[in-house]
Amino acid sequence: MIRLKPVLETPPRECPNCHSTLTAAGFLIAGMRNLADFQCPQCKSEFYGDLPAGQGLYTPILLDKKSGAAYDDYNVGWFSGWLVDSYKQRTDEPLGFEVRKFSEVKDKVVLLNCLDILYGHSLLKLLNAQHYTDYQSDVSLIVMLPPFLEWMLPDGAAEAWVIDLPLRRGTEWNDWLVNEIGERLKSFPEVFLSVAFSHPHSSDFDIERFTRVSPFPLENFGHQKKPVITFIWREDRLWETEIRLSPTRFEKIKQHLGVSQERTGEQTRKIIKFAECLRGEFSSLDFAVVGIGKANNLPDWITDLRLTKLDATAERHWCERYAASHMVVGVHGSNMLLPSAHAGSVIELIGEDRWGNYLQDILFRVSDSREMFFRYRFVPTSTTPEELSRLALTLLRYEDFRRLMSPEFCRHREKYDLKEWQSVGRGNRD
Ligand SMILES: [Zn+2]
Repeated sequence: MIRLKPVLETPPRECPNCHSTLTAAGFLIAGMRNLADFQCPQCKSEFYGDLPAGQGLYTPILLDKKSGAAYDDYNVGWFSGWLVDSYKQRTDEPLGFEVRKFSEVKDKVVLLNCLDILYGHSLLKLLNAQHYTDYQSDVSLIVMLPPFLEWMLPDGAAEAWVIDLPLRRGTEWNDWLVNEIGERLKSFPEVFLSVAFSHPHSSDFDIERFTRVSPFPLENFGHQKKPVITFIWREDRLWETEIRLSPTRFEKIKQHLGVSQERTGEQTRKIIKFAECLRGEFSSLDFAVVGIGKANNLPDWITDLRLTKLDATAERHWCERYAASHMVVGVHGSNMLLPSAHAGSVIELIGEDRWGNYLQDILFRVSDSREMFFRYRFVPTSTTPEELSRLALTLLRYEDFRRLMSPEFCRHREKYDLKEWQSVGRGNRD
């Protein structure tokens, strides 16, 4: 936690002009950016600097108030660019701001700011909430979040501040919000800011505390005759072989072509082929497609749960489907966060352009490391439906191999129970 009040505690920052240590006069929360208001005691230059929360924890940017130029010691153009642009275009337009009160607020408050421009980033920040409700009983948790995340607010927060800032405006610097938050925090003598880890550790949250949906019971993974598989659909990043062009040229071509009907049609054909291959092995296969998109063009035996508009009921319904799934399959991205958190296993199609973001979209269910390798598989987006189905079948059919590598199976016992061990051998291979 970073102390904001009564005295702001920030790590020392150096003036980029004269190298003196900057002094912080105060803090401001301008939207997704949590900032300190700095002044140089020597050359009198003034700056705003990221407080150590979220991305600002490891790549804090400094912004010159006068020129609007960024000092980016970490070479993260996307993160410094958001700050520069939002400062240039700052607004004081009032925002929808609703306060939900759940319990009496203690003198000591921690603020968890979940605002962001990316859906996955917002959701991941929210998962930090459980740490405070479970382990910091001396502080009251106040969660700042956009309306689309409210359904996932866990019990135990003292207040939620629901701020109507749509994702597309997620980087916005809003001076009205700066004042509103500043005013509201005046009544609390001691205020902290959550560090809001961008990728909180799996052991620090239980997904059902957020979605109210219990994940797939892993003990039921084997011996199924009717596997439940769910493909996670998205249209802005498709299951297709990557085009190896320079990023700029690729972007230009994508802009020109958009996500054409033809390309999503090809994805549909692949999904059907994949499901058909599995159905050849399991005649009573339960296969569904879930994601943002128009429901159409799928055979009757595939359940089409795609939607173009989401609300809390639909989100929870989707989570129930993930939690009923032995396996979820989909292309890398934040679309995989909730599916991976609830399903029994995951196969992810990942393109070379996303290798740098490996694992960032998977909410692991912690277990033994060998079991985890078994249940999470990553394959290139060039994988064919036939190859993908063979991999999926391996997971479904050879579950007993996972069990014989499990800590329970490999535990030395004083008294051997051969029956118990051999029950694994009988497994579910027909
Ligand atoms: Zn200076």
